[in-house]
Amino acid sequence: MFRKTDPETIAPYLKDASNFSEGRAKEVVIPETQEELVGFLKENEQPVSLAGAGTGLTASRIPLEGVVVSLERFNFLGPVIDGTIRVGPAVTLKDLQNHLQNSGWFYPPNPTEWLASIGGTLATNASGARSYKYGATRQFVLEATIVLSDGRTASVRRGETIEQPLQLDDGSTIKFPSVNFKSPECKNAAGYFVQPGMDWLDIFIGSDGTLCVFTECTLKLVKAPAEFLSGILFLEQEEDCWDLLEKIRGSREPKISPCSLEYFDSRSLQRLKQKFGNVPEKAQAALFFEQDVADQSEYDSCLEAWYEFLEQEKVLLDDSWFAQGPKDIEKFYDFRHELPLMINEENSRLKRVKMGTDMAVDDKHFRKMMDFYRDTLTASGLDFVMFGHIGDNHLHINLLPDAKQMSLARETYTTLVDQIFDWGGTISAEHGVGKLKKEYYHKMIGDQALAELQEIKYSLDPQGRFGAGNLF
Ligand SMILES: Cc1cc2nc3c(=O)[nH]c(=O)nc-3n(C[C@H](O)[C@H](O)[C@H](O)COP(=O)(O)OP(=O)(O)OC[C@H]3O[C@@H](n4cnc5c(N)ncnc54)[C@H](O)[C@@H]3O)c2cc1C
Repeated sequence: MFRKTDPETIAPYLKDASNFSEGRAKEVVIPETQEELVGFLKENEQPVSLAGAGTGLTASRIPLEGVVVSLERFNFLGPVIDGTIRVGPAVTLKDLQNHLQNSGWFYPPNPTEWLASIGGTLATNASGARSYKYGATRQFVLEATIVLSDGRTASVRRGETIEQPLQLDDGSTIKFPSVNFKSPECKNAAGYFVQPGMDWLDIFIGSDGTLCVFTECTLKLVKAPAEFLSGILFLEQEEDCWDLLEKIRGSREPKISPCSLEYFDSRSLQRLKQKFGNVPEKAQAALFFEQDVADQSEYDSCLEAWYEFLEQEKVLLDDSWFAQGPKDIEKFYDFRHELPLMINEENSRLKRVKMGTDMAVDDKHFRKMMDFYRDTLTASGLDFVMFGHIGDNHLHINLLPDAKQMSLARETYTTLVDQIFDWGGTISAEHGVGKLKKEYYHKMIGDQALAELQEIKYSLDPQGRFGAGNLF
């Protein structure tokens, strides 16, 4: 086991991809085996923050006190067996995808940040553009070896529900507390997942480093698609794009079955036009779609089905882009990734603070949500962009206030949040709560539910050692 105490070597563990700068720790502990980890947890009583790759956006791996336990040595990567793979938590998504190349198998969760570790993606239930079809990380975890803060371990498998106590390696058990709270039905990464009769595995996935250490897990893979069919569709009105989205979601044509549906509003396109000269001048909205095609022989008929379908819609079909090969696919990814980069560059140049949302609602509120976002944001007079995972009713709104508009931006943010909560939506559909969105998370679930979730926390981590400052 390695131990670091020198402030310079500890410094990288006090950061993640958020701007949170209050990290403090006495020591970083790097176990090489589960036995070492267990020994450390049994012999020590300090608060522990668990470190993955540090790409999180909510400061949830950043310690406020105590020690950091980094899982960076747990990088076991097993063979593919019957469409499953066993991996250590330090394996990055990039390592995993490289390992699977040419295997005929594919791991769908794709939070776009390939340096994220598998442990971090389990702890945050990470998801990404393809979650429209495939869902989040949770759907792909079959089993996990976990270590609790007192050093007891368990192997938790699918099908082991909270109706039975959790069985620990030393023969002891833990009963799931009685709770009334249920997680929202929409895409959600905020706080603990709770549904009646759920598997124990699901309380640990998405627990933001507060309940257990993942030391190994078995992931479910899917057959690698032969090809991805993708395009960027341009439209003259934002509303036309919302109509199109509803029609795609409602289509009964089996060949119209996208895995990603990503939106760009008119203000996003205005910015993208500066870098991508061939965005049509009259386009006011765009929809990126991607569809996985299982068999090469189906590619042409799927493409034809999309053309036929789109000919009936208000799409600028002649000006829209359809990928002709890997270069185009790469260009479309650039198009998607360029916008947040442009906004970040603009913010630092203009010394502006970004306020970004990560909220989602259920399908039935989609149209009301879009009208509400447009009306509220336009009436505010603030500059903003709206883009992202429209297929999941999950859009990222970036409010872009100048220095004099900060309180207006905060008020507008609160107005948006309050309405989303009224519709039973979530404060975070993919980034999680961590240390940064606690205030809104508490508002979202209310005092009673918060007390219930704390009871879950203390039944599994009685001393409150793991992930202090996250969620609660
Ligand atoms: C450019 C960019 C784009 C992103 N896009 C997306 C996106 O589209 N979707 C999305 O979901 N996220 C996205 N993220 C956020 C981030 O990539 C995910 O949250 C990711 O899952 C974090 O993994 P990590 O290994 O970096 O974890 P860390 O940041 O190191 O930690 C995150 C949490 O996991 C816990 N943790 C880490 N390892 C373990 C373990 N072994 N056992 C228990 N707990 C552990 C930590 O304590 C912490 O609470 C993005 C980030 C960036 C920088």
